[in-house]
Amino acid sequence: MMKKSCVIGHPISHSLSPVIHNYWLKKYNIEGSYEAIEVTPENLESFLKELPKNGYKGCNITIPHKENAWEIISKLPDFENNDSLPAHVARYMKAINTVVLDEKGKYIATNTDFLGFARNLIETQPDFDYQNSVAYIIGAGGASKAIAFALASMRVPGIVITNRTAEKCEEIKKLLCSNFNYPEDNFNIIEWERRNEVFAHCNLVVNTTSLGMKGKEKLDINIENLPENSLVTDIIYNPLETDLLAQARKLGHVTVDGLGMLLHQAAPGFESWFGKKPEVTKELRDEVLKKLTSR
Ligand code: NAP
Repeated sequence: MMKKSCVIGHPISHSLSPVIHNYWLKKYNIEGSYEAIEVTPENLESFLKELPKNGYKGCNITIPHKENAWEIISKLPDFENNDSLPAHVARYMKAINTVVLDEKGKYIATNTDFLGFARNLIETQPDFDYQNSVAYIIGAGGASKAIAFALASMRVPGIVITNRTAEKCEEIKKLLCSNFNYPEDNFNIIEWERRNEVFAHCNLVVNTTSLGMKGKEKLDINIENLPENSLVTDIIYNPLETDLLAQARKLGHVTVDGLGMLLHQAAPGFESWFGKKPEVTKELRDEVLKKLTSR
């Protein structure tokens, strides 16, 4: 039988996931389908419950359903409290981006954003000394939780975080330090108004806010005091080079854009649904970029 998966969101027309998965299906000659489906918040529960009945092997979940999907799936009688790291991270974040139905019809809910971020950094900048660095996370929204976990799992020994809404930084600190034993003394929160003051003490900067995205205001930040040869990354991928990355490039720092994270976070779902570990290649990246720039 043809294997089926999809991405659900509201709205969903912007999603690049179909480009990624259909590229892989074609490349590996797999008889399968992957489509984008508009699911409203009111229809989320029934859609998720009916996944098996409708022949799906699982699905990806995007905005605004990541938290609600966790709430729904984690209470289903067929929920499988899986032991894998992405399932563990889903429990900690209470937000999911990938659902897999196993052979017994059990629901496995995972979050692969942290893997996407970590794999992309390690693959594109393998020589950076992560284990002797201090990371500065700008923003403390949904994606930021995954980034904090990724940095901790990469054994980055110091993390600084700032966010307009300060309580969200406290929440991430609590999650990371109590659930994953990240040392509290090595996790520092800086007030949003003082965000430019800490750059001299960090060498790995990650923008996780939505500021700088096409159509949004710029991220108002001054990275002049970053030490030489720092690594600056943005999880935004549209535009590919955000203002922050342009600033960093002009100062001679290493930069990593957000598109690689998007490609890498898709791989575990594809492997579970379609039985083939896919590769993130330049050709795939070009295919997705073509779609992005045609908009
Ligand atoms: P989110 O939960 O809505 O968080 C948004 C973040 O941006 C919060 O920290 C928020 O601060 C901050 N922010 C928004 N407007 C602001 C403003 N005017 N001034 C200061 N801060 C502001 O969103 P998310 O899911 O974390 O996603 C964030 C970005 O990451 C999006 O652009 C998304 O496309 C991108 N993303 C990329 C990938 C990838 O694979 N590359 C994966 C996930 C997300 P407050 O808390 O104060 O509101």
